Amino acid sequence: MGHLNELIKKKINKFILKMEEEFKCEICNRNFNSRESLEQHNLAKHSESTKKEKKPINTKKIRKWAIFIIVFAGIFLLIYWSISGAVNENEYCANQIAAEMNIGSHQNLKNHIHQDLEIIIDGIQQAIPSNVGIAPGIMRPIHTHDSTGEIHVEGPCVRDFTLGEFFNIWNKEFDATKIFDKTTENGTLNLYVNGQESTEFRNLVLREGSEISIKYTSNK
Ligand SMILES: [Zn+2]
Ligand SMILES: [Zn+2]
Repeated sequence: MGHLNELIKKKINKFILKMEEEFKCEICNRNFNSRESLEQHNLAKHSESTKKEKKPINTKKIRKWAIFIIVFAGIFLLIYWSISGAVNENEYCANQIAAEMNIGSHQNLKNHIHQDLEIIIDGIQQAIPSNVGIAPGIMRPIHTHDSTGEIHVEGPCVRDFTLGEFFNIWNKEFDATKIFDKTTENGTLNLYVNGQESTEFRNLVLREGSEISIKYTSNK
């Protein structure tokens, strides 16, 4: 029995030693018998030194990261705005009604094609004025620059425009049943594209180099 008692005592002593080691203050090497008392000791004796050591490092790091995040977010926003601006501009060009669309000027044209239009009523060539679709501060994507009948299709994106849209911009009547004030009730109306008769009328898509002729002949 005595031998067993010795063994138990030794073990308990070893355990206590281990506990003391675990709750040793790293700054002043004092031993404590519980975590709570070590923490209290640290708070009472070493709180100043731990504060001084840690705080400046943390704020420096935070400042660095804050600057990095702000710069990164700024760059990201700039890229986002420029991309979304370009997307909006393209969407406007692709979807806006021609008669309400303002291309502003001849800068940044990605679309620039021409057609020749003539309108003949009872054998008489009708005037197509210059500057159809052009007014101070306004330039429509379909316009004329002179009175030769040359139509300019221009814009910041490539898209189709129709002959009907040119007449909308010009603010003159034209469809399968009329040209200006002349109607098919009192005559015949024909549309020719590059010498071939077409039934497209308002829906004729304006293609590069097309020769477009609108002919009206009154019934006698
Ligand atoms: Zn042009
Ligand atoms: Zn032009």
